[in-house]
Amino acid sequence: MPLTRQQIAMLMQLVAETTSDELDCSGCLDHLAEFAETHLAGQPLSDALEEVRTHLKNCHCCEHEFQSFLEALKGMSDDSQ
Ligand SMILES: [Zn+2]
Repeated sequence: MPLTRQQIAMLMQLVAETTSDELDCSGCLDHLAEFAETHLAGQPLSDALEEVRTHLKNCHCCEHEFQSFLEALKGMSDDSQ
């Protein structure tokens, strides 16, 4: 059964919504500093930061960025003590 134009439009919208739910790499990196600070402070994660955490689990590239960031933050706090 061929799809109608309207059904295709609905499917496209569904896909668009699904993709916008998932954080992309640049969106993840935008929140990386906040995420790292919250993580180090042991504070609860906001919805936006939960998305960052999910992305980091699935993206080695951003995970690597995050680890570097954590090291940098830890290094800064070591210096201040
Ligand atoms: Zn990523």
